[in-house]
Amino acid sequence: MIRSFALPLADPLATARGAVDRREGFLFQRDGGLGEATPLPGWTESLRACERALGDAERADDWPDALDACEDAPAARHAVSLAGLDASARDADESLADALADGDPADAVPVNATVGDASVEETVAAAERAADEGFGTVKLKVGAREVSADVERVQAVRDATDLAVRADANGAWTREQAHDACYALGHVGVEYVEQPLPAHDLAGHADLRGSVDVALDESLTEYPVADVLTAADAVVLKPMALGGVDRARDAALAAREAGVEPVVTTTVDAAVARTAAVHLAASVPDVGACGLATARFLETDLAADPAPVADGRVRVPDGPGHGVDVASGGLPGGTTDA
Ligand SMILES: [Mg+2]
Repeated sequence: MIRSFALPLADPLATARGAVDRREGFLFQRDGGLGEATPLPGWTESLRACERALGDAERADDWPDALDACEDAPAARHAVSLAGLDASARDADESLADALADGDPADAVPVNATVGDASVEETVAAAERAADEGFGTVKLKVGAREVSADVERVQAVRDATDLAVRADANGAWTREQAHDACYALGHVGVEYVEQPLPAHDLAGHADLRGSVDVALDESLTEYPVADVLTAADAVVLKPMALGGVDRARDAALAAREAGVEPVVTTTVDAAVARTAAVHLAASVPDVGACGLATARFLETDLAADPAPVADGRVRVPDGPGHGVDVASGGLPGGTTDA
């Protein structure tokens, strides 16, 4: 069964293809398993292409054929592979994290707070709130103002809190700006700088390493994981964009093998995919702070959050499957018979 939904965002989300104000997608149900496809322009196929692929998957005779139907549609493949993993985990009466992990998964995953572009004072105030809420790591969005102003913001947060600080430029800088920024931010003591240069510039990113650790995110939309691992100290893995939690887990293990730190995050997905990403992160041994505190970006959701953030961590649901119970029938903003 395929059901559509549309969830308004609390605030518009800036993406490579412009601002979006709601997240639209589909739930895919088969053999008692439930998966979510929430495409995001610039990262996955379009909403229409996703719906077509899910329709083909629904008509497929078995799980392998259903997955094959989504080969060119990562968000659709995410839904189908998650539904399959959820169905078999429920059959085995184990959590999705248990089903994914080689040994025992973590029972909680540390997560980072996110602070958008703001003045020095507002940035420090937001970071202090995050520290008060129990977060150990904060990600500051940079790149919207002069490099010197961003460095000042980061320095001020380092001075005012004990938080580990990450800076995410979303590809905003030129090579010259990135060189100056990474040198200065290395001195300030950031954990890493995320996507300082545009997605295509792998060589430029490789050159920046040394003055500071470099994390790559958007570059995964342009290059295979193996290529990105040659140019980064950390990779930001979005299961929806990679075609499923199974593929994201393969990428995380390949990253570890290459000495690159995997960070699991979402494309601001709804409860089913977000919680699946929590299970995935828990299955990666000793995973660092992940970008999974994203429920707050949605104004409404598909279900009660089974993995809310508390004290800068997310507890992994330990019931069978991913543990998200979505009521039967119509979904918020959805049409029946999608
Ligand atoms: Mg990023």
